[in-house]
Amino acid sequence: MSSSFRSAVAQSDVVQLMRAVDFAARKHSDQRRKGRAKEPYINHLTEVTCLVAEATAGQDLVAVLGAILHDTIEDTKTTPAELAAMFGDEVASLVAEVTDDKRLPKHERKVLQIEMAARKSTRARLIKIPDKTSNLRSLIESSPESWDSDRKQEYVKWAARVIQQCRVVSPWLEAEFDEAYRRASSITGQPGPAHPHGDGRRR
Ligand code: ZN
Repeated sequence: MSSSFRSAVAQSDVVQLMRAVDFAARKHSDQRRKGRAKEPYINHLTEVTCLVAEATAGQDLVAVLGAILHDTIEDTKTTPAELAAMFGDEVASLVAEVTDDKRLPKHERKVLQIEMAARKSTRARLIKIPDKTSNLRSLIESSPESWDSDRKQEYVKWAARVIQQCRVVSPWLEAEFDEAYRRASSITGQPGPAHPHGDGRRR
């Protein structure tokens, strides 16, 4: 392979995406989902990334890279500087934007997610919506053993409140969330619209 070909390839979307997948898989290698099935954490990351890629028809590489890397700062020892050096400033600041401040108590972080959601950039919302969709799907398929129905209901309600503030970036992603919300609500005994101003159905 000539060196000019290699440097052109190094910049390609596929190469950048696979570097990010490889990076995320390594960083999260010890992490499992909270559910009974204890799925490898990378399954959550690829699910979120697939949804972002489909919602943007593969046209927004920064959003897709941000999706696969979205939990690296929050859950691993990755720093924004490390992400910036490998994937550029735009990706690093997008990941930072979807990262909770772990120095705050959990309850405060949850309230902040609702309050801050409306101020997030379009790309950050494009990641937040499928992130919560994936979490609700996990709750349906393999909920954490220690969660009773109150805890599940509380999570479902909270996720809907966050997403209510993120709306109008992708009707398709929002419909996927609404469907997961409808199913999660029916198994946790809490049926109702995913958002107070609509019927929660695809439109
Ligand atoms: Zn996530």
